[in-house]
Amino acid sequence: MPAPALILHGGAGARRSRDYSAEIAHMRHVVEVMAARLNDGLSALDAVVEAVVMLEESGLYVAGRGASPNLAGDYELDASLMDGPNRRAGAVAALQGFKSPIRAARAVMDQTPHVLLAGSGAARFAAEQGLEPIDDPETWFTRAGQGEDNHPPGYAPALAHGTVGCCALDDQGRLAAATSTGGVFGKLPGRVGDTPIPAAGVWADGDVAVSSTGQGEYFLRVAAAAQVSWRVRAGASVTQAAQAVIEEIGALGGDGGLIALDRHGRHADPFNSQGMKRAWLSPDGAVGVEVFGR
Ligand code: ASP
Repeated sequence: MPAPALILHGGAGARRSRDYSAEIAHMRHVVEVMAARLNDGLSALDAVVEAVVMLEESGLYVAGRGASPNLAGDYELDASLMDGPNRRAGAVAALQGFKSPIRAARAVMDQTPHVLLAGSGAARFAAEQGLEPIDDPETWFTRAGQGEDNHPPGYAPALAHGTVGCCALDDQGRLAAATSTGGVFGKLPGRVGDTPIPAAGVWADGDVAVSSTGQGEYFLRVAAAAQVSWRVRAGASVTQAAQAVIEEIGALGGDGGLIALDRHGRHADPFNSQGMKRAWLSPDGAVGVEVFGR
């Protein structure tokens, strides 16, 4: 069996003009915590949920506590996860009123026959599951990245973005992936991107786990996360597969990146934005963190 491995992201769309030292320190901390947990036998599925909860809670990224309101002033959050060995999946879209969308997605997977719950139905379900509500959105949310130079020249401002995600391989050789987002800045009420859609924003099977970040409209149109798997199963390396998908998104005019992890613990992290916040644990135990470099 392979040694555990993990890769997480704190969103593409990073800007060179901005200091990411807080995010870098936090991502390293999350990887180190998860490395210890995986070495103690934690499953890949639990690892991706725990890592994404830490990223959501931090308020540093455009997901969970870091989310920003839509044009109507409401906070609508999306999240999804997928369990590689059996391809079970769970997701929530346009969820309002709860601190951890990824915990809600996990509950959808574990407690219902469905994959995706949206809007008021998702909120009602989260309440029934006893998930932690947000008392006051105005004081809870940090609006990470809001008001920064998040609108690079040539990009539609409505598609400036940030997200979190994680892929893990455990000591049983199981892969899992999870993704959580506040969506794009200035989105219309009811807008749902790629994040809560298995095959676009998340994927895990026996060969590869994937989490996407970027302009979700484009990731939906190329079935980004599942396409990485199709390419790997057709014989490409995880690096070749992930890079080809980002090139296809770029050819359509889209921007973003993805993280992918194969069953040997090899990861890929291509992006076509200026940067992508990411950190990883390699099977040899090495920990890495990058925002702009490769
Ligand atoms: N993909 C997310 C969305 O479109 C945003 C992001 O990843 O930054 O909602």
